Amino acid sequence: MNDLGELYQQVILDHNRQPRNYHEVDGTNRRAEGYNPLCGDRLKLYARIEDGVVRDVGFIGSGCAISKASASMMTEAIKGKPLAEVEKIFKAFHGLVTEEPPAGGGAVDLGKLVVFSGVREFPMRVKCATLAWHTLRAAIENQEETTTTE
Ligand code: ZN
Repeated sequence: MNDLGELYQQVILDHNRQPRNYHEVDGTNRRAEGYNPLCGDRLKLYARIEDGVVRDVGFIGSGCAISKASASMMTEAIKGKPLAEVEKIFKAFHGLVTEEPPAGGGAVDLGKLVVFSGVREFPMRVKCATLAWHTLRAAIENQEETTTTE
């Protein structure tokens, strides 16, 4: 368990040091800002979504290692995925960090995102781990008011 925890920590620290997709996105058509006052984490999320698929996604922000690593790994996990699948991953991830099994079940391979399973023991940290995901959801929903294609 300790070794596993250490491995997980390595992954999180690596993504914190070198966040993936840490930039604005060309042709962004969905964006949102997230703020977690409990910890002070802030991030801006940029996405280009076309034909119901996340063609590109990136973020910029400042905050703790968990919030940054979570955003970094989220962008890797959802890039190129259809929105329906993104929603499934969102639910599975949320279930992972809160220990509430996702409604509707359905096996979703979270891949490296399982490193965040440890945060469920630290309720304060759950908000850090889910900030990017809630921001993503806000970005997707924002645009629905102004777009007429879906
Ligand atoms: Zn945080």
